[in-house]
Amino acid sequence: MKIKDLKVYYLKVPLKKEFKTSLRTVKIAEEIIVEIETDTGDIGYGEAAPTAVITGDINSSISGIIQKYIRPKLIGESIGNIEKIHFLIEESAVNNNSAKAAVEMAVYDLFAQKLDVPLYKILGGYRNSLNSDLSISVNSPAQMKVEALQAVSDGYQVLKLKVGKDYQKDLDRFRAVRNAVGKNIKIRLDANQGWQPKEAVSIIRAMEAENLKPELIEQPVKADDYQGLKFVRDSVLTPIMADESLFSARDCLHLLKMQACDLINIKLMKAGGIYNALKINAIAEAYGIEVMLGSMLEAKVSVTAAAHLAAAKKNITRLDLDAPLYLAEDPVEGGIILNGRQISFPDEKGLGIRKLNNLIEIK
Ligand SMILES: [Mg+2]
Repeated sequence: MKIKDLKVYYLKVPLKKEFKTSLRTVKIAEEIIVEIETDTGDIGYGEAAPTAVITGDINSSISGIIQKYIRPKLIGESIGNIEKIHFLIEESAVNNNSAKAAVEMAVYDLFAQKLDVPLYKILGGYRNSLNSDLSISVNSPAQMKVEALQAVSDGYQVLKLKVGKDYQKDLDRFRAVRNAVGKNIKIRLDANQGWQPKEAVSIIRAMEAENLKPELIEQPVKADDYQGLKFVRDSVLTPIMADESLFSARDCLHLLKMQACDLINIKLMKAGGIYNALKINAIAEAYGIEVMLGSMLEAKVSVTAAAHLAAAKKNITRLDLDAPLYLAEDPVEGGIILNGRQISFPDEKGLGIRKLNNLIEIK
């Protein structure tokens, strides 16, 4: 099975409602889709999300890198040579992790198809169903409370509150939601770099003093402020998770050697694909650090790849893969089955993606 062609498409999907974090407000999800065709007539799919404020990647940079730098290296390569293909992609350009992730997941899709098994089975096969949390956009405390109550009545047991905006108000947001949903719902908070280190310590200590029980706090401070992250981690009891601070295996080693965080969040768009994500997870596991598998605002192709990775590994204990539920329509036929918080895998080989609708080819 050899790579015969690689095509790049643009996909645009409106959201059901605005997605708001401390870093950005999004109304429409835009994705780049990769389709690799082999000499045997098989098709593998990949996807990249342009998230300029986190990865620096935008549509035109993703499609340009894939078409001009990655595609020429891969035509004619054997799908079985995963390690070789990984390094051909990796060495095609520095950075550009979203583009690399998209191409590489299409290769993994084909590799699993070739072996006639669902992808999660060749990556490890630890479990075959998953539960995701649901993210609540940062808004007024009253609005977040309404959305949290809706999520709980829809069956979610873990909520992720987006905070990190108007620091004084974040405690009110959390308190409003906690009081509304009660003590049995797990609530994790994601500040998306929105606090200064001392602000973070003060607000987290206030939450602890009020017994609001945050399960964890994600990325309280700026991505490159490793000392600040460690200061927060050392100053509070609540577990601290690194997200935007950690893209690569080297970042992971650096943070964990410093003991700067208690947990990490791996996303394929940051790591540059499944191969690197496996490496980061292995490092974390060696340090006794559990992993959350998250995503950007992605459609169901790359979220399916992320779910397969999460199902494969014991050390991936938390899931934040609710992004496809934000989309007003689902342009992806096949892939994972999303039933509220529950994610399951149809008994299909590879990623199990049959077809994508509304694609616009980028020539
Ligand atoms: Mg995050």
